[in-house]
Amino acid sequence: MPWYNAEAVKTKIHPKWYPEARVHCACGNTFVTGSTLPEIAVEICAACHPLFTGQQKLVDTAGRVDKFNQRSAAAKQKQEEAAARKAVREAKKAAAGF
Ligand SMILES: [Zn+2]
Repeated sequence: MPWYNAEAVKTKIHPKWYPEARVHCACGNTFVTGSTLPEIAVEICAACHPLFTGQQKLVDTAGRVDKFNQRSAAAKQKQEEAAARKAVREAKKAAAGF
């Protein structure tokens, strides 16, 4: 017995309904739900979401954390280069007697 009432919906206007659609999570968990798609792939589910697990975890599907770390390292290097240039400039000024 499905959880929805098949007689309550109009005929010919609804997409095909899969009452036992499989959901696959990136964490390896799978479960069954009702959907218009027979198979669904998700990145996060109730078994692995930090809200439900209570564990701190980075969800990084698009490599955003890596990109941020790269940008952060590049910015730090530029700051150091600028500081070195400034030190040289100050030293020249001091040598010129200002
Ligand atoms: Zn999951």
